Amino acid sequence: MPVTERLYYSDSHLIEFEARVVDVTDRVSGWTAIVLDRTAFYPTGGGQPSDTGTLNGARVVECIDDGDKGVLHVVQGAAASRNDVVRGRVDWSRRLDHMQQHTGQHILSQAFVTLFKAPTRSFRVLDAACEIDVELNNPTTEIIERAVELANNVIWEDRAIVIRNVTSGEAAELHLRKEPARVGDLRLIEIEGFDLTPCGGTHAYRTGEVGMIAVRSWERAKGLTRIEFAAGVRALADYRKANKSAREVAALFSTGRDDAPQVAAQMVEEHKELNRRVRALEEMAAGVEAETLRASASDGVILKIFDGRDAESLKKLAHALIAHPQTIALLGSRDNDTARLVFARSADASGDMNALMREACALLDGRGGGKPDMAQGGGKNVEKLDAALTHALTLLNRAP
Ligand SMILES: [Zn+2]
Repeated sequence: MPVTERLYYSDSHLIEFEARVVDVTDRVSGWTAIVLDRTAFYPTGGGQPSDTGTLNGARVVECIDDGDKGVLHVVQGAAASRNDVVRGRVDWSRRLDHMQQHTGQHILSQAFVTLFKAPTRSFRVLDAACEIDVELNNPTTEIIERAVELANNVIWEDRAIVIRNVTSGEAAELHLRKEPARVGDLRLIEIEGFDLTPCGGTHAYRTGEVGMIAVRSWERAKGLTRIEFAAGVRALADYRKANKSAREVAALFSTGRDDAPQVAAQMVEEHKELNRRVRALEEMAAGVEAETLRASASDGVILKIFDGRDAESLKKLAHALIAHPQTIALLGSRDNDTARLVFARSADASGDMNALMREACALLDGRGGGKPDMAQGGGKNVEKLDAALTHALTLLNRAP
């Protein structure tokens, strides 16, 4: 005879009960583990977290299944002594949430078997949603939504959920969704006309109590399809969250929630088009800038340092400059932590830009290179940018 009679086996909606204390042990400081002769508290197991609640008003924070030694109720402080009769109360909102997720999982898992012969390999109740790993090949959103639709129809048909206690011999004659994890007598959960599976958890009285099931996302994981779903109160909470996000995004575009994807897609296209136009304008501006710079340089060598100019912009300017004959451009730019260089020469000018760039970048504590007529580079030693350019100019003038 097991130490603890498990009242939740016969009634998942029983939340108040009286029991006798069989054992009390002090665990780590301030925590006590209490074993009762009977309990309505469900201990962690089968992918479902444990119940919480109170024993004689003391907080039960966790319940652990210790097999034949009973259910350990982990209580904050000392709640009772051996042989005391205590009053237990299970937190109903947490129990209802877990029942909805767990019963919802039975229904969704059977929907995948019915439609696609795809068994569920594991199940977890997470903080805000749940996960099942399904042996579903070639998953698509459409395929998964078909199972979700069947599952919701079963919920709304409000089918009865019946507990059947059978021997292993009787079970062998039945068509169970899942192989039993234990030998001997079995507790089967039957969803009328839909699903029959061995399980020791807490379930709704009828499928309608699950409310609804919604899939948040899915992905391929370890050869299985991992599906994240929410049932009942969690599905509503998730809808509220998704609706809030969608409305906030829509407000940014000054449009309605359901029009936001189309408006956002239009904006992205416009953004790309604007970028193309900016680049074209930059090129025109570089031509004008090049004229001005060339006018101020008497010997065809243009040395110039800019602030906060990116490499692409420097290159555009360099190209515009060397479109003119006998021109050499030694350009630099700096921001807080980066110095950038672009060296270029026209086809008829002399000098090895690649060699100059390597020398200059060594001073910047960076790297760079390219071809004899065009090279780029940079480094993080920003304060040496002036010196690097002067050094390059000296080397250029020294060349034969
Ligand atoms: Zn179950």
